[in-house]
Amino acid sequence: MIVGKAVIFSAPSGSGKSTIVKHLLNKRRDLEFSISATTRARRPDEVGGKDYHFLTKKDFLGKVDNGSFLEYEEVYPGIYYGTLQSELDQIWKAGNHVIFDLDVKGGIKLNEILKIRALAIFIKVGDLSTLKNRLIARGTENLDQITLRLAKASEETAFESKFDVSIINNDLDKALQKAEEVINQFLKEDI
Ligand code: ADP
Ligand code: 5GP
Repeated sequence: MIVGKAVIFSAPSGSGKSTIVKHLLNKRRDLEFSISATTRARRPDEVGGKDYHFLTKKDFLGKVDNGSFLEYEEVYPGIYYGTLQSELDQIWKAGNHVIFDLDVKGGIKLNEILKIRALAIFIKVGDLSTLKNRLIARGTENLDQITLRLAKASEETAFESKFDVSIINNDLDKALQKAEEVINQFLKEDI
């Protein structure tokens, strides 16, 4: 019998989703990260098969055609990201709960698919200039890519109310504590 649950994190890029997800993965051994597939270029500090399954566009679209994805989005023009059904199956089969880091549209879609098994959490920051500064400080995108991510952030913020919970990440320690509380509560509830 499948007993696993799913915790979905979505947020505009730079809000601190990955930082929060990494913290939770260190805190709870029963949580496992769903490794998405993407067509974007690997960053120098990323490892294929650990951070993402890095695919060519042809391979990605082939998997779309053969129904391998639970959800996928063209998150930025020409750049695809998707959740493989096989990731979820494997994690639940191992007896773990799954944690997702998805764009806002993908988060809403997956929350609808997984229903009561899922909790969708929106991470937000006070304003766009904070996001911009964080993306510049992270140094993983050039200025054009940052501009694209900020333009998308304004649209994404409008979907906050579609999520089960919102957490503000201005003070990181507070955000981490809140995320832990929310998840510990959700994972102990019967479904
Ligand atoms: P996302 O996964 O949402 O794109 P990241 O977790 O990569 O965001 O965070 C973006 C950058 O901001 C990283 O360099 C991270 O270390 C930093 N960061 C995260 N949370 C905070 C915070 N509360 N205050 C300041 N910097 C933060
Ligand atoms: P990044 O390029 O910064 O790693 O991720 C860009 C955006 O793509 C982030 O908002 C991230 O959450 C989202 N993303 C990562 N994997 C997936 C996925 O499998 N599906 C969807 N819909 N979005 C994803």
